[in-house]
Amino acid sequence: MDDLDFNWHTENAVSPLINVSGTMTGLGASVVAPEIIAATAAAMENFVSIHEAQAQASEVITELTGAEAGFLTASASAGITLSVAACMTGLDPARAEALPDDTGARNQVVVQAGHLCGYGAPVAQGVALSGARVRPVGQSTLCMDHQIEGALGEATAAGLFVVSHHVVHYGQCPLTRFAELCHAADVPVIVDAASEYDLRGFLDAGADLVIYSGHKFLGGPTAGIVAGRRDLVRAAYLQNIGIGRGMKIGKESIFGAIAALRAWQRRDHAAHRAREAEALEIWQRALSGIDGVTALVVPDPTGNPLDRLQVDIDVATFGVGAGTVARALGERRPAIIVRNHEVELGYFQLDPCNLKPGQAEAVAKALQEVLSAPGQLSAREGDIEIARNGSITAYMQWGAA
Ligand SMILES: *Cc1c(COP(=O)(O)O)cnc(C)c1O
Repeated sequence: MDDLDFNWHTENAVSPLINVSGTMTGLGASVVAPEIIAATAAAMENFVSIHEAQAQASEVITELTGAEAGFLTASASAGITLSVAACMTGLDPARAEALPDDTGARNQVVVQAGHLCGYGAPVAQGVALSGARVRPVGQSTLCMDHQIEGALGEATAAGLFVVSHHVVHYGQCPLTRFAELCHAADVPVIVDAASEYDLRGFLDAGADLVIYSGHKFLGGPTAGIVAGRRDLVRAAYLQNIGIGRGMKIGKESIFGAIAALRAWQRRDHAAHRAREAEALEIWQRALSGIDGVTALVVPDPTGNPLDRLQVDIDVATFGVGAGTVARALGERRPAIIVRNHEVELGYFQLDPCNLKPGQAEAVAKALQEVLSAPGQLSAREGDIEIARNGSITAYMQWGAA
């Protein structure tokens, strides 16, 4: 572990940690490559016309997505709100200024009930911030064509389609069909693809606007990317005179996001994937031969080219459950933060994206130390519930005297 550098953490008096949970807002989303940091830093010492900067962003976004136009905002979450607003106001500044109170008559957003997930905040609230109302369709685990057709009408501003491991993964209307139904009713389709690697597929499948995070797989500074039909992109950008002001992106993040998109264009994706596979192998080896522990490489649930290691723990054999092991790893120094979304099902996952040199080995060593001595682990009340309620507990405790 000597080769691991946590000097920055020490200097800034924050806890050292290794993130094997994924691109989490609560952990700082992603680590940013030097050339992207340099682009961000260089922008800081200059004035610039933001419209010009955003026009450059549009250029690189269109190159990568095939869209007619694009722009940058504070986050993907902001992108959802601004995209919905665009579908209500068009390129009309008076109507943009009137949001969120006066939305006009087309103010409903049709969403499959199974897509109404949370990503740290409810997607429905991202819609509602614009003044629009969510019109859920179907039930959580089943959405039929006629239900979507029946919901689309004079009051519909947009159809929203969410791509995420958080949404229900069966019984949902696929994007191509959802877009056909929306377009037949002359309704534009917004796709929230915040966490997806595929920069073209959703537009090809019928999206009119698609939203990505700049700080997730792209490894840029905090930003949201909106791409799609020129008229809608322009209308979404116009919202900066109104509700978009609180969601603004600064010059540093614009130039950082442009650099991140360029880096993505040049990146040796195969080499990157091979390094991730190597980490999974190291971890799988570290876990082999431990009674009650099964480690399996699993694909990403939304089809991103990213595998994770799923560590199943059989309580009866091992003695304690996945929630307890996840907590024990998180209590080490440096803390090993695993992906614990589904610990109540008996497993946690290890995500290899964004590892720094030496971290894969450090995680393997920690896994071995923690899992080879189950006798030293004891279950605590809340080991499972913390995956569900922990984020709120942290908010409720923060800043308390
Ligand atoms: C992460 C995420 C968001 C929010 O992205 P931010 O850029 O952090 O605001 C929205 N939707 C989905 C599906 C996400 O995974």
